[in-house]
Amino acid sequence: MRLHVVTFGCQMSVADGEELAAPLQGRGFTAVAEPETADAIILNTCTVRQHAEDKALSLIGRLRGWKEKDPERVLIVAGCAAERLGPWISKRFPYVDLVVGAKSIEDYPKIVEEALGARFDALAETGQTFKGESRSVDHPTGWMSPFSAFVTIMRGCNYSCSYCIVPAVRGRELYRSWETILAEVSAKTALGVKEITLLGQTVNSWHALDGKRQVRFPELLTRLGKIDSLERLRFESPHPHFVDDDLIQAMATTKNVCEQLHLPIQSGSDRLLKIMRRNYDSEGIIEKTNRLRAAIPRVEVSTDIIVGFPSETDDDFTRTLDLVRRLRPSWSYTFKYSPREGTESAGMEDDVPDEVKEERLRRLNELCDALTEDALSKRIGKVVEVLDEQGGFGRTRDGFKVAWREPGPPGRTVKVRITGTSKRVLKGERDERA
Ligand code: SF4
Repeated sequence: MRLHVVTFGCQMSVADGEELAAPLQGRGFTAVAEPETADAIILNTCTVRQHAEDKALSLIGRLRGWKEKDPERVLIVAGCAAERLGPWISKRFPYVDLVVGAKSIEDYPKIVEEALGARFDALAETGQTFKGESRSVDHPTGWMSPFSAFVTIMRGCNYSCSYCIVPAVRGRELYRSWETILAEVSAKTALGVKEITLLGQTVNSWHALDGKRQVRFPELLTRLGKIDSLERLRFESPHPHFVDDDLIQAMATTKNVCEQLHLPIQSGSDRLLKIMRRNYDSEGIIEKTNRLRAAIPRVEVSTDIIVGFPSETDDDFTRTLDLVRRLRPSWSYTFKYSPREGTESAGMEDDVPDEVKEERLRRLNELCDALTEDALSKRIGKVVEVLDEQGGFGRTRDGFKVAWREPGPPGRTVKVRITGTSKRVLKGERDERA
């Protein structure tokens, strides 16, 4: 039986997609890239932005034909939009077999089994592809790459950023025990994974008890750092509030923690940051970044920024540009504000005209693109260390994509001499002398 997974949204969603696939993999499903040939499709939705939700709903509509070709096929809609719009999705798209919201992910294997177990058995009996396929994956790895895997360490969010729907659809923070995280990381590295990305909505707020003692996120990094076969450790997405001296120290002294930090600033206007309820101000961001760069000179910082938040003035926007110039992110994810029903800011007047939002986004992108180009061009002529994820394509420890000719077998860390850039990818040649 063949399974196709479509994921919208962040890396958290991608990791959830792996978890959503696991019960079906355990029943003998194998991944296929094309939906047309699939016996089951999991649509893992996102509702953080209207655009992502609209794309998911449009795809559900288009899958009607796929489902009508063979009613035995199974369509599962999961994730954040499923949490927010569950009953509406079931009514609007009656051919969807199962709608499972993001808050139910812990119970998802049970829900799938109860709702669809008999259907899967019937599907298996039709039998075309069942024999000889992988029956069970205890620790699913390699859904995206056999050498790079996600490990979700917490779910939910205790913050209440006024524009964000996540706390409503994912609930309050729940943390995994450090023992189960260690077990999963160890199991994945034993299966050949070289790089682990720890995931959580505010990943660095993670904490758990070890006996009676509380272990915080920086200590989790140092504990995982002792796994020799783990070459690289990353984490997404940290909250700036929890970027403190302990975290900086752990990053600086744990050899497998990569020199990269995502620091979502959202705005450079302290007035707007307050209305957004972000719990930091622009000087705090610069001060933390200075301490980080002093401790880890090679570190690269990336960020998220929203333009056109309600009441954003030219002065607010200028402050955002100023903060970006001082932060110097090597990568930026920029967004035009759109209200999400159910959030605090949806009750505010969306008073920045769309053409002004567009213009600000264009100017912000110009600045961010120039900073990215600058960071890329500084690597030309240098030798960088790359984990070869796909045979001639991989990433540096500080997060740059690299492509090179004459690759060897993937899964090895290689040295590449950078000769140029193309579409934000560093290009180079294997450096045998390095
Ligand atoms: S920290 Fe804010 S933006 Fe991030 S998930 Fe929580 S509420 Fe949303």
